[in-house]
Amino acid sequence: MKRLLLIHTGGTLGMTGRRPNALKPGAFFRTVASRVPELKTLAHLELELFSNIDSCEMQPELWSRLAVLLHERLDDFDGAVVTHGTDTLADTASALSFMLPGLDKPVVLTGAQRPLEEVRTDARLNLIDAVTSALHGPSEVTVCFDSHLLRGNRVRKVAVSEYDAFESPNHPGLGVLGVDTRFEKGWKAKGKRRVLPKLEPNIFLLRVFPGLDPRLPLAIVPQIKGLVIEAYGAGNFPVDASLGRSLAPVFALARQRGIPVVLVSQAHRNGVELSLYESGAVARANGAISGGDMTVPAVVAKLMHGLAYFRGRALARYLERSVAGERGSVVATGP
Ligand code: ASP
Repeated sequence: MKRLLLIHTGGTLGMTGRRPNALKPGAFFRTVASRVPELKTLAHLELELFSNIDSCEMQPELWSRLAVLLHERLDDFDGAVVTHGTDTLADTASALSFMLPGLDKPVVLTGAQRPLEEVRTDARLNLIDAVTSALHGPSEVTVCFDSHLLRGNRVRKVAVSEYDAFESPNHPGLGVLGVDTRFEKGWKAKGKRRVLPKLEPNIFLLRVFPGLDPRLPLAIVPQIKGLVIEAYGAGNFPVDASLGRSLAPVFALARQRGIPVVLVSQAHRNGVELSLYESGAVARANGAISGGDMTVPAVVAKLMHGLAYFRGRALARYLERSVAGERGSVVATGP
């Protein structure tokens, strides 16, 4: 029988019926054994308690520890399942995908909208499906939720109380666990598995909105190591200086201080294309990097990771290419 490591980090799945209290570790593992006894007919499972937190408390330091733990333990297993709160599950999945290059075994994150203890819980099926995906799915970091297996660095949480909580707007997904289970081949990682656990969390995420006073980001830029701008549509932002709210000076200041700026789109489908509009030209003239069709969780985690390992052009190249299937090509086609 195959061996899987089940790492619990916390989240609703492991809470008591009387939320927000988390089940105590012993109670959590007993609940898994009593509510999903068939798991042990699928694989030999070893349970490990990593943390017992609401995932809004997840932080980069914990991502690094989790990546190291996975790297160190995976040699003894055929794959891993990580139970996690849904709020930052996309962020953790993204970060792990960058910290474990060359990943050669499935690492499947899952969670639930209702605790495992409850009658109408989705945790039971999500756990069974996650274990199935770790046994038969692709060797990469994935998210298994509501009968679908998705690439970890492509998902975003889209529902607070419905069971189909995750979407993968720019990637078709890696499996469907319906009456039959079907899995795709997945990302082909190069080289031997390594762990690159360093992150530089001193970055800022700025969402553009009508009325944004450029003086605020101008005050922030000198205090950070990298900036993600969630811009309109194809990567647009105001550049009309006569209206007093042009963001062009923010790009110029960042360039002058050597702070990388990555643009992502507020639109969920498709991505940034800086050749289309005037603001794109301003961004490019100032050396801004296109985040293409990456999700916000992916670009934030990748920038933190890239800053810890690269500088200048090498950092831009790392951000611009797909290193774990996190971005595709956004091509603007003519008529
Ligand atoms: N607040 C919870 C968490 O992310 C929500 C959930 O698990 O669904 O930990």
